[in-house]
Amino acid sequence: MTLRNALFKCLRYSGLPWLLRHTVQQRRVTLVMFHDIAPDYAERAFAFLKRAYNVIALDDYLEARRKGDSRALPPRALVITLDDGHARNRELLPILEKLNLPVTIFLCAGIVGTRRHFWFKYRHPDVNIGHLKTVSNAERLAALARAGFDPLREWEQPQALDRQDIEQMRSRVNFQSHTSLHPCLPHCTDEEAWAEIAGSRQTLEQDYGLRVNALAFPNGDYNARDLALVRRAGYACAITVDFGCNTLHTDPYRLRRLSIDDTDNEDAVCVKASGLWTFLLALLGQRRWKSPYYRPGTIVAGEDTHNSDTSFTPVSGALRRL
Ligand SMILES: [Zn+2]
Repeated sequence: MTLRNALFKCLRYSGLPWLLRHTVQQRRVTLVMFHDIAPDYAERAFAFLKRAYNVIALDDYLEARRKGDSRALPPRALVITLDDGHARNRELLPILEKLNLPVTIFLCAGIVGTRRHFWFKYRHPDVNIGHLKTVSNAERLAALARAGFDPLREWEQPQALDRQDIEQMRSRVNFQSHTSLHPCLPHCTDEEAWAEIAGSRQTLEQDYGLRVNALAFPNGDYNARDLALVRRAGYACAITVDFGCNTLHTDPYRLRRLSIDDTDNEDAVCVKASGLWTFLLALLGQRRWKSPYYRPGTIVAGEDTHNSDTSFTPVSGALRRL
C-alpha cells in the first residue's frame, strides 16, 4: 500500500468523514466533480457515493431552491458532476443505468461533436499548462499557436463526446455548459467571456436541443464580471470549485463543489466527498478555498438580490460594452 493510500485509509476510518456526512452534510447539498473517469473506477466511486449519500439530480436541487423547500431534498443530498465532456464518458452509461444514478456532464460546446482537442491536454515541451491558466487569453492562445496548437483544428481522433453520444445519453444525463473552448474566463476580454458564456448555451440549446440552465466555470475560475454575464445569459446557476457544500441560500452563481480525482480509490472518494481532504489541503495552503479572481466588493448587486439588474461598476461597464 502506498503512503497516500494509507493516509486516505486512516482518514476514512478516523470516522471524520462519517461525522461530516451526518452533521455538516446532513442538511446540505454536496456537489462532487469528476472528469475523465474510467468505467471501473466510476463503478466503485459511484456505488460508494450511492451508499453513503442520497444522489439527486442538479435540477432537483434547483427545484427545491425555487420552492424554497428544503424538505423536498433528502438528507445528505449529493450531485455527481463530470466536467469537459470527455469521449470516455460514453462508457459510463451502463453504470449509470445499473446504479440508477443521475449525473450532470458539463460540455465544452465548441469541442463536443467535433474533432477539436482540449487545449489543456496538449503536450509540448514549450507548453506549461499551469502557467497558461494564469495569463491573458490572448497570451495563452499565442503561446499555444507558437507550439503548434490551434483550438479550431480538427484532429484525427476526437477527444470529446460526439452528437450520437449525447443523443444516447441524454435520457440519463443532464448536459450543461462548460463554455465553448474552455478558457479561464477571468483572463478573457468582456467580448470573449460573453461569447464563451452565452454562445455555449446557445449552441447546446439550438444545435443539440438541450435545456441549459447551468454553467461550470473552467478551472473553477470566475470574477464578478463573469457572474454577471452568466446571469445575463439566462443561466439559473453556475458551479465553481469553491470549497464547501450548499444550502438553499448559497449564491446560485457560486455553487460550491468538491473535486475527486478520476483514479481515487474508495477510501479517497469517501474522504474527498466529505470535504475533509480539501479542508486539510486548504488549511495547509496547498489548495485554494475559492476563485482568487473574485472580489465581493466589485459587484454590489447580486449577493442577496439575484434578480436586480447589475448596474454597478465595473461590471456594468463590461455589460454596457457588449
Ligand atoms: Zn474543465
